[in-house]
Amino acid sequence: MAFPVQRLRRLRSTESIRSLVRETRLTPAQFVLPLFACPGEGVRKDISSMPGHAQLSVDLLLPECADCAELGIGGVILFGIPEEKDESASGAYDPHGITQRAVRAIKKEFPKLLVMTDVCNCEYTSHGHCGFVRDGKVDNDLTLDWLAKTAVSHVCAGADIVAPSDMMDGRVGAIRDALDAAGFHGTPILSYAAKYASAFYGPFREAAESAPQFGDRRSYQMDCANGREAMREIELDLEEGADMIMVKPAMAYLDVIRAARERFDVPLGAYQVSGEFSMIMAAARNGWIEQDRAMMESLTSIRRAGADFILTYFAKAASRALA
Ligand SMILES: [Zn+2]
Repeated sequence: MAFPVQRLRRLRSTESIRSLVRETRLTPAQFVLPLFACPGEGVRKDISSMPGHAQLSVDLLLPECADCAELGIGGVILFGIPEEKDESASGAYDPHGITQRAVRAIKKEFPKLLVMTDVCNCEYTSHGHCGFVRDGKVDNDLTLDWLAKTAVSHVCAGADIVAPSDMMDGRVGAIRDALDAAGFHGTPILSYAAKYASAFYGPFREAAESAPQFGDRRSYQMDCANGREAMREIELDLEEGADMIMVKPAMAYLDVIRAARERFDVPLGAYQVSGEFSMIMAAARNGWIEQDRAMMESLTSIRRAGADFILTYFAKAASRALA
């Protein structure tokens, strides 16, 4: 039976009907807010390409976390900008490094707030690459040791979940072994399993001061043309012990999120990256799109594609819109 018996507009006629039959819903508990920790006290360095976001000293991260707790946001993920960068990324695994200090302070004040840490080296290396550079190339196996030490130091500081984002082969296994050896059998790993070499990371590099000083990250992050390879990345990370997986970026990779959802029965995250956020903000500031509607539509599309949770710079704004 078709028209005129079938009229799909019937179920769109009022907001109350639309709300009843809505297939995809958003709640603050599904959002994770990225935060950038920097040294000092009372320091707020606005990130010009990401309105409303800033590098914050540890003391100023606390009010942000208070907002997250109050809004019921799922958690925060921390990135650190160290005092000093060097060839060996020593700030990444320093027990008193910037991320470790931030985790300690946040968990002390907000023990129930879920704190994830990004585990990578690019914010901490003088060359801005995600690993150990030898002869101008990132050495995979030598980098694993840094990552494992960094993850353990984050968990020692109180991190609830560690999230390796470097895209080295074998990092999840190396981190799992190190965590278990340190007695942290219960700490989950959220793997940035399918992370693409993307132009949409542009604003983040200003935020995290992590632009590579030479070359690019295409020898370790994925080629944007590849979908099947993402399934292999995810499969291998799960075999190595990842508890949760992530696709990054989100909006240009909704097909990858969908494919991962259909194939793997583990919690699936997606990272709505800085460029996705900044594009919406820039267009809205020019009066070209409605900010709140574009924000909610973009987040809904990521959930509809199959993501269980979303790392997003809109975490607070969207939670407020949902309240
Ligand atoms: Zn990195």
